[in-house]
Amino acid sequence: MSTTTERSGGPTLPQERRLVTGIPGPASRELMARKLATVASGVGSVMPVFARRAGGGIVEDVDGNALIDFGSGIAVTSVGNSAEAVVRRATEQLALFTHTCAMVTPYEGYVEVCEELARLTPGDHPKKSILVNSGAEAVENAVKIARYHTKRQAVVVFEHGYHGRTNLTMALTAKNMPYKHGFGPFAPEVHRVPMAYPFRWLTGPDACAEEAAAMVVDRITKEIGTANTAAIVIEPLLGEGGFIVPARGFLPRLAEFAREHGIVFVADEIQTGFCRTGQWFACEDEGIVPDLITTAKGIAGGLPLAAVTGRAEIMDAAHAGGLGGTYGGNPVACAAALGAIETMRELDLPARARRIEEVMKPRLLALAEKHPLIGDVRGRGAMLAIELVRPGTKEPDAASTASVAAACHRAGLIVLTTGTYGNVLRFLPPLVIGEELLTEGLDILEAALTGL
Ligand code: PMP
Repeated sequence: MSTTTERSGGPTLPQERRLVTGIPGPASRELMARKLATVASGVGSVMPVFARRAGGGIVEDVDGNALIDFGSGIAVTSVGNSAEAVVRRATEQLALFTHTCAMVTPYEGYVEVCEELARLTPGDHPKKSILVNSGAEAVENAVKIARYHTKRQAVVVFEHGYHGRTNLTMALTAKNMPYKHGFGPFAPEVHRVPMAYPFRWLTGPDACAEEAAAMVVDRITKEIGTANTAAIVIEPLLGEGGFIVPARGFLPRLAEFAREHGIVFVADEIQTGFCRTGQWFACEDEGIVPDLITTAKGIAGGLPLAAVTGRAEIMDAAHAGGLGGTYGGNPVACAAALGAIETMRELDLPARARRIEEVMKPRLLALAEKHPLIGDVRGRGAMLAIELVRPGTKEPDAASTASVAAACHRAGLIVLTTGTYGNVLRFLPPLVIGEELLTEGLDILEAALTGL
């Protein structure tokens, strides 16, 4: 029987890769059989291994294999799993009360998280927030608020954009398979416009920002009508669409256009927020101050919490009772968020994310020199990716991407694929990962590419 220390994850978990069985091992196989019998098939999993504990840059499975984590549970555990301050604060709160409903008898933690959001998000104007349970719910609320405030209906979103799996957010999301296929009809008044995707821009990356922005402005002006447009909703660095960094200049132009026409500019920072890209928020990179910002994922060290934060006059537009939900801003999740934010400040996690880029990017660029399969290396901070193509072309190579990911998994490295064409390997390590694990993970990636 394992001791308490052996069971605990978080900061105490040994920071080394260890393979004691094949991947998956027998205990994971047994659990997978049970999962297949009882969990809906629509809930997939990237790797066929079941987690037992996790901390730092390691996820340990039920067979005792210790895997290097380049996924952070899809950009969530930026402060690491079971981070000390998250566990401490959430545990204290668990013992006090687990739920009263913020709409029945509110509590300080909810207010404190909103105060932190006002301090940390871009811009020094008066701000207010609402707390909800998931990223999709945050985006839904941002759209509700923008529509109420503007008394307009149209919402502008982008090619390759991803905003969630609820009905409205499916409509906002670009990619059909697997997110939308068979789940229609979708919400109306959603308009998709071009994204400034430098690697795939037809006239080349140099003109990308200007040309794409001109196309967006034209579409909104001529086809939708500025007076009908409630919101522009955009990820400042696209996540599920393939870690696309919009060409420099594109975002500021759109923000300016939105301001000129009273359109609410919504930055979806659910994946990019909370230190991931080397700044507290990715918008800061080009000095963008969004009207509304949606956050989730990294905000609470793994507990479900999400938020919409924005200009007080916009956030206050809706009538009392118009926004909310039973669990929104759960007290344990709020305590965890305060612990996560404390950790981000104490460890200066934006700097850690920049350091991860310093370690990883040169290695990825060197790999691209050697492997013509790598068409593009991109991203910022600890949100980096390589796009795989057929050598000498820009034709997406999803099959090789899946093979490289599978080889990494077998070697004990958790990596995720992404992108509209399924041909992007993305790297999202916890920001607290040690440099030795980072380097070892890159060695595994290199061996996987070489062994193709
Ligand atoms: N927006 C973005 C940019 C995301 O990356 C995600 C999740 N991948 C969402 C929205 C939806 O968040 P959730 O899965 O918490 O609903």
